[in-house]
Amino acid sequence: MTQNNRRAEPADRNRSNKKRASGKINFKKLFNSLGAKKYLAAALLAIMLPLLLCFAIVHKKIPEKSVIVPTTQAPATTQASSTVISDEQLKQLNKDSTNKNSDNKSKDGENGEEQNDTVARRMAKIIEPTDEEYWYLSIIGVKYPLPEKYAPSLSPLIEGSSITVDERIVEKYRQMYDAAKKDDCILTPYSGYHSYSLQKSSYTRKVNFYINQGLAQEEAESKASLSVQPAGCSEHNAGLAVDIVSASEDFAKTKEYQWLSDHAQEYGFILRYPADKTKITGMDYEPWHWRYVGEEAAQKMKDKNECLEEYLGIV
Ligand SMILES: [Zn+2]
Repeated sequence: MTQNNRRAEPADRNRSNKKRASGKINFKKLFNSLGAKKYLAAALLAIMLPLLLCFAIVHKKIPEKSVIVPTTQAPATTQASSTVISDEQLKQLNKDSTNKNSDNKSKDGENGEEQNDTVARRMAKIIEPTDEEYWYLSIIGVKYPLPEKYAPSLSPLIEGSSITVDERIVEKYRQMYDAAKKDDCILTPYSGYHSYSLQKSSYTRKVNFYINQGLAQEEAESKASLSVQPAGCSEHNAGLAVDIVSASEDFAKTKEYQWLSDHAQEYGFILRYPADKTKITGMDYEPWHWRYVGEEAAQKMKDKNECLEEYLGIV
């Protein structure tokens, strides 16, 4: 250590240093001086590291899909993405969106319409069929299973029919049925609501079919779920979809199918698994499967050629 350094020490420390032997004092001072700096640096690191970690965690974007909670209402605060709106904004926008849904026709300008559209999409990611406002936009599938005990209030699809659906879609289906009939098209329902146990046995039957063809369990399940979803993963378990058939083998070639393609959206129904969206829906083309999503969403999906996943922004 140099003389200059020694002069920089506090006066009392200098005095005590002078009492010691010159050689030893210099080494010990050097050691103490370096040691103190190390401790100081370590203490600073100990304080700064947790702060830096907190900062990194708070600013890290959570992928949108990680916040999808199909069977549980997720609190808005868990959505740490920078695009997520606050609770207050959400309440206000929901109010606006609800007003819009109630009259079913956009009276706002293009911006207002887009804003409400976005809110509906965000809401739909986390809602269940039990949601009072957005139940019709709920998404149900292998990734979005319903609770085993989910039980919608059911009504016969057509008076006297043994086929039942969620009572909230009955009126719209009947209106669609009557309108089609006036155009000489008979919409014959084949299937509506499926209970959890019925869906389970249908799926097991399909899996066994593929196992009998020589496929391994996992492969058989994967292939089966392209046409029959596991229990709780079908829109039929929610009672929000109707399979419509005809005497003809290929429903896609019937005039009823053509009529539905032209008019179903006017009654809030969509072709849920179109031929050109199989990679997105994860399901084979099902010309017979029609899902209720509400008139506004159905019309928009039709106009933009979007399937439900695309409309909800969860592709
Ligand atoms: Zn179906």
